[in-house]
Amino acid sequence: MPNASAVLASSSSSIAMHMQDTQSNIATYERHCRIVATIGPASNPLELIHAGATCFRLNFSHGSHAEHAARIQMIRQAEEASGRFVPMIADLQGPKIRVGTFEGEGIQLRYGQEVTLEVSKEPGRDGLIRLPHPEILSALQVGDELKLDDGLMALTIISKESDVRAVARVDCGGYLTQKKGVNVPMRQLPISAMTEKDKKDLAFALEQGVEIVALSFVQRPEDVAEARALVQGRALILSKIEKPLAMDSIDEIVALSDMVMVARGDLGVELPTEQVPAAQRKIVRACRAAGKPVIIATQMLQTMVDSPVPTRAEASDVATAVYMGADAVMLSAESAVGRHPATAVATMDRIIRAVEADEFYWDELDAAHGEWIGTPAHALCASASDIAEVLEARAIFAFTASGTTAVAASRERPRTPLYALTPHKSVARQLTMVWGVTPILSPNINETAEFRSSDDMLAWAERLAQNTLNYRAGEHVVMLAGTPFGVAGSTNTLKIVTLAG
Ligand code: PGA
Ligand code: MN
Repeated sequence: MPNASAVLASSSSSIAMHMQDTQSNIATYERHCRIVATIGPASNPLELIHAGATCFRLNFSHGSHAEHAARIQMIRQAEEASGRFVPMIADLQGPKIRVGTFEGEGIQLRYGQEVTLEVSKEPGRDGLIRLPHPEILSALQVGDELKLDDGLMALTIISKESDVRAVARVDCGGYLTQKKGVNVPMRQLPISAMTEKDKKDLAFALEQGVEIVALSFVQRPEDVAEARALVQGRALILSKIEKPLAMDSIDEIVALSDMVMVARGDLGVELPTEQVPAAQRKIVRACRAAGKPVIIATQMLQTMVDSPVPTRAEASDVATAVYMGADAVMLSAESAVGRHPATAVATMDRIIRAVEADEFYWDELDAAHGEWIGTPAHALCASASDIAEVLEARAIFAFTASGTTAVAASRERPRTPLYALTPHKSVARQLTMVWGVTPILSPNINETAEFRSSDDMLAWAERLAQNTLNYRAGEHVVMLAGTPFGVAGSTNTLKIVTLAG
């Protein structure tokens, strides 16, 4: 019988993020907001889990499949050793445009200088930048601005000779080296959201069993739909919002996605920096309203790439994301290539804990709740949250085959501990990304003669509450389920269980 023993927490755990009930052996995710750590050459997964990392991101903009396969194996071993459920995000590079190579190391761009842009796979030289992407120049028009190297340099197109040649003026100079990124703010480029490289990386990632696939540079709702057709339910789809155009149809993109990331790195190149905070709030609001998990990413503790301590402003930035009710905050270079990966995770962990312990935390979450969602599942989850609070219930148990009931229950941001009981390990992993959810593996209905009916399942949960979680007689647990069991999206039952003596 697959049961809670599969989530046995290692007893030697010094893991700050989990409060371990000494008798239960169930890892309770004490922190509501989760931490995504990007994995790279500098990171040791087990060390990062111990410091508080919930999930790992593999960045497919860097590294070979062999390198990713080795990291995936390390993460699975660390997961095993930690006794947690640890999901992985395969972050596909997407249609990121880059300059080509140069004859030398790079070229100097001087303010006011005119440079030629040419579509070619040959190396460029002083005054000539070559672009290996045929699509980009044909889409550009005179007056368009190009940002190079994460916005460090900027050009404006001043004349266009053909679809493969244009002349640009340098507005902001610098030293440009090979393969640096090119952003074209405000222009929708006729490039598919999934490149050939992305398709190969996706096939590899799915074969490796990653739980979540991140799409970079999503521009339109159709981009998400196209990816979903390729993924075919084998992973969740996380849309990275990093193009201004995506902001125009944010509600539709959120509706089609399983999760969303506020990807402030590229978003802050494509949009003027001062517009990023408002965009962040708009995206989080859209996600909270729709009940979709949202991750705040990039430069959260940027100085910790080098320094063992963050700036006060960075600490405040992480805290803001937590007060806004984000499901997770993310580390990029800090954990992948920085000098202090584990310290960065531990710092984030402490900031989250401090916010969640603040007396005004819940007020801010309530204020960000959003309108009711008029579906039976959401209505029931909203009631469950209130009932649990009124009764001072020990827990809310959400039976969930696909994860949707637990995500809906989390959307209400209940103050009562929320457990997701699922028979699927992949779903349990995915749910650790969701605010406040503690997943527990449950039996599968009809798997054995012991579990034939909804009543059998509810009786199992009651035993879990009493024997494993050690709740006492007279205490309440609010159970959410869809009956018949095992059918996704059928949440229709709320049961208050008062534990017997
Ligand atoms: P990246 O995405 O790190 O893959 O570029 C995140 C961002 O742009 O913020
Ligand atoms: Mn990006």
